[in-house]
Amino acid sequence: MEIDPRKLPDMPELMIAGPGELHEEDLEIMGRQVIAHYGDLWTKLHEQTIGQLARILGCRDLPYLIPGTGTACLDAAVANLFEAGQRVVVAQTGFFGTRLTQIAHAHGLDVIDLEVEVGAPIDATRVFEAAQKADGVLTVHVETATGVRHSIEEIARAASDAGAVYVVDGIASVGGEYLKVDQWGIDAVVTGTQKGLEAPPGYGILALSPGGRARLDARESRPAAFYLDLKTWDQYRDDWGAWHPHPVTMPTNLTLALGSSMARILEEGLETWIDRRHALAMRCREGLAALGLEPIPARGFGANLVVAHWADDPALIQKHLLAKGIMISGGLDPTMGKAIRVGLMGRTATDAMVDRMLDGVKEALST
Ligand SMILES: *Cc1c(COP(=O)(O)O)cnc(C)c1O
Repeated sequence: MEIDPRKLPDMPELMIAGPGELHEEDLEIMGRQVIAHYGDLWTKLHEQTIGQLARILGCRDLPYLIPGTGTACLDAAVANLFEAGQRVVVAQTGFFGTRLTQIAHAHGLDVIDLEVEVGAPIDATRVFEAAQKADGVLTVHVETATGVRHSIEEIARAASDAGAVYVVDGIASVGGEYLKVDQWGIDAVVTGTQKGLEAPPGYGILALSPGGRARLDARESRPAAFYLDLKTWDQYRDDWGAWHPHPVTMPTNLTLALGSSMARILEEGLETWIDRRHALAMRCREGLAALGLEPIPARGFGANLVVAHWADDPALIQKHLLAKGIMISGGLDPTMGKAIRVGLMGRTATDAMVDRMLDGVKEALST
């Protein structure tokens, strides 16, 4: 059967582990006419958007905003902060921890895998020990496969004490968790637009601390890339800043929707916003636990944007919820086929939706 993109059937409401659904006003922005990606208005808007990102990430250096997804910027972070033959410690937290190993290998790095028990936080002391023999450390902030928030402030200290460059995948955390790039001394943090920032997918974002910037400036060779060479982006920012401060055509609608979404977060106040996300995750976690589903993360390490619980028959729960018009996620390695994961981001991240979802899970479990 052919799908007509102009006439989609009714779609379920998304409570998956990302992306989130857009808020109504941002949806309207996405439907507006395309604008030029250069000129006075655009340049101001672009600069303003990057300023909003810097506030959310807690960094003075202006973050890179690169069309692609979060993973494009993970590639960029590894390609630009390391050189082939260097060695990195990668925490094996689950599907996205494993992806960091794949990315490191793709760039010719040697990897020391640091095993991490499912549901447990990464042990910063073990990172320090392993990093003595390495040039860098790569970890996720939130592992989306398990719903665990890792203690990246401690890990940053351990990496720094060991003299290693620290790169964090913050794709499932930025906007929904406390994270301070400069204050915590994280060399590079990567995120995307479609999770905690509650905008459509399509941009990767990369923030550098002063240490990360110094590492980038100190390297001798250039990465084997043009698009993902951060110096390409620096050059356009420096030389074409007043008119076209980036080397490629930018997705203007996405930029507007991202700016609108971040204004919503910043107008409420980042801390208040995150605290509200935290309270919602607790409501969700306690509700699922009360139905007999055990949380995957160890107590105190559950993430705000992805709530993951063990389930005997996740497919049955998912199917029952879909029939009620709600889509959640199943597990992902190492929780594949053994867990449900609920995303709390975007339009559906409300008490009312969490309660509707919990009612559906309760019905599914009693069938
Ligand atoms: C979603 C996710 C990714 C993949 O991000 P893309 O934007 O699809 O490239 C990577 N890491 C984590 C932790 C994620 O949650």
